[in-house]
Amino acid sequence: MVEIKTDAALDAMRAAGRVVGTALEAVRAAAAPGVRLVDLDEVARTVLRETGATSPFLGYRPDFAPTPFPAVLCVSVNDAIVHGIPSTYALRDGDLVSVDCGAIVDGWAGDAAVSFTVGTPRPEDVRLMDTTRQALEAGIAAAVVGARIGDIAHAIGSIGRAAGYGIAADFGGHGIGRHMHEDPAVPNEGRPGRGLVLRHGLVIAIEPMFLAGGGDDYYPAADGWTLRTMDGSRAAHFEHTVAITNDGPRVLTLP
Ligand code: MG
Ligand code: MG
Repeated sequence: MVEIKTDAALDAMRAAGRVVGTALEAVRAAAAPGVRLVDLDEVARTVLRETGATSPFLGYRPDFAPTPFPAVLCVSVNDAIVHGIPSTYALRDGDLVSVDCGAIVDGWAGDAAVSFTVGTPRPEDVRLMDTTRQALEAGIAAAVVGARIGDIAHAIGSIGRAAGYGIAADFGGHGIGRHMHEDPAVPNEGRPGRGLVLRHGLVIAIEPMFLAGGGDDYYPAADGWTLRTMDGSRAAHFEHTVAITNDGPRVLTLP
């Protein structure tokens, strides 16, 4: 069921989203060669604690998961696409890191993700990240009243395919509100003019994830959570929580 939010709810979701944006900014600032993934999780935990927010990730257990998620961040390095569990792995020069963060404030959720490199970036990683970020921006630009979910999916997918990247078909964006994952699904590839018509008050997470090698296939790592590219190529992931409004798309997860 798709839930349309009141204007007061949008403002409440902005408060949750601001915490997410702030946490991601802090994590990015802390990331460097030698820093462990668990240290990044601790940075985010501190931001959540200091802002009175809780984590929708911590203890989360969807159907596919063998264990409750043990952290407040997903940290996915290099060939990991999404859902990486922060481990004691220490970042190395040139690593491509995707960080996904959620927060709950006053019962409302925010969800956003960013990719970046630590140390000296590889040019192909810069291109991958830039393209994935552009796809997020194109998806946001398509999130206007009267358009359809398929228009967002098409905007994202056409950018990824034009660049030669793969797209993990079964993972994408989603509605969000009191729960982190609500209807509708927001795929990262699709046909324009299809799907749910966008209305003022609909809130969705838009989250392109592109696979550099061009293949769409991935596999779950031994931990049951981390999704890795089948061809071993690197992946990037950018996400914002966005409200569709009569004044245009409102990004809720900026710092
Ligand atoms: Mg997310
Ligand atoms: Mg999400």
